[in-house]
Amino acid sequence: MITEMRADPPAQHDTANDPTCRFCRAVLRHTFVDLGMSPLCQTHITREQLNHMEPFYPLRAYVCDKCFLVQLEEYVSPNDIFGEYAYFSSYSDSWVAHARKYAEMMIDRFNYGASSKVMEIASNDGYLLQHFVQRKIPVLGIEPAANVAKVAIEKGIPTTVQFFGKMTAGAIAKEHGRADLLLGNNVLAHVPDLNDFVAGMKVLLKPRGVITMEFPHLLRLMESNQFDTIYHEHFSYFSFFSVEKIFAAHGITLFDVDELETHGGSLRIYGRHAEDDGKTVTERVTELREREISKGFTRLETYSTFTEQVKETKRKLLEFLIAVKRAGKSIAGYGAPGKGNTLLNYCGIRQDFLDYTVDRNPYKQGKYTPGTHIPICHPDKIKETKPDYLFILPWNLKHEVMEQNAFIRDWGGQFVVPIPEVKVFP
Ligand SMILES: [Zn+2]
Repeated sequence: MITEMRADPPAQHDTANDPTCRFCRAVLRHTFVDLGMSPLCQTHITREQLNHMEPFYPLRAYVCDKCFLVQLEEYVSPNDIFGEYAYFSSYSDSWVAHARKYAEMMIDRFNYGASSKVMEIASNDGYLLQHFVQRKIPVLGIEPAANVAKVAIEKGIPTTVQFFGKMTAGAIAKEHGRADLLLGNNVLAHVPDLNDFVAGMKVLLKPRGVITMEFPHLLRLMESNQFDTIYHEHFSYFSFFSVEKIFAAHGITLFDVDELETHGGSLRIYGRHAEDDGKTVTERVTELREREISKGFTRLETYSTFTEQVKETKRKLLEFLIAVKRAGKSIAGYGAPGKGNTLLNYCGIRQDFLDYTVDRNPYKQGKYTPGTHIPICHPDKIKETKPDYLFILPWNLKHEVMEQNAFIRDWGGQFVVPIPEVKVFP
């Protein structure tokens, strides 16, 4: 404030250091939630790295008081996160099934055929586009991680290795033509330059084309205390209200929306050129927009209550864990997902509470959770050690995990789910 009183013009860095909204550029003044310092969620560490320093970054989400976009600052370059990505979508059966259902629904609704072109941004290993290829519909994948794209190409899914934006969209349109269907699932939240990305979609879409995007819904995140889905790789958290504004600013009208159960509650939006009057805006769009407004998503106070909700979730969880340890019981973790990293670091849960965790992904076995250094073991360890409680970190998969590990009940073991609030399943 003092600098503003000076006769000289304020130095450039005064404002340059203030974070600004990645959509509307307003200065971010309001914290949505501050989860302290946290390491990157995919940096599982090896035994050799245990004695080394680990980079921690602030995990603080803001809400913009102009457009109500909830967002993180960009601490890490997307190249560092996504250049070589260890996540292959095809490893998840339920996700591939979700993709197949989507492809069939879209082909039925919009009559795609041999003369159409379907393009997917962040197409991963081709888990989704393969369903269009099977129906002889021409496709193009756009994927930044070369190692993942290679797998798609080997499966016969044409894929170009690029980060998506306005410039690459222009180049792709020149080389491959524009898209009848342009889609992206769980990519929008990971985009640092949101405006450039959405502007690119406008460029790559045919005049009568359709865009669909899926991403976690902020309304569900807040209602179900899903603060652990906030991590550094995840830059933006969208309400329908905020995402509609962003697309409208780039000449794209959202004409339909589905509410999905994936990832704890997601939205699938349907976009078209604002100039394309062939598709009328459905009642679902109006209803959801009004529902969010009535729930307070256009008022700052609504967002400021989340911090206290998160703190209370942490206190309840720690009370439970402390009581269990005082009673002399043992707890093992299940899973080492990104969201587990936020939860463990924010709540300060280390081996003082969880003896170890297990993961089916061989890439993670033998390593340690980032920051909290809990050993990640093969799932067989559960049978060997017979823990009293199995603490499920990927709570969105709790039914699947409880089914696969029902045998813990043989020794009186019980399941614990931390979100929306700590709950025991005997
Ligand atoms: Zn904004």
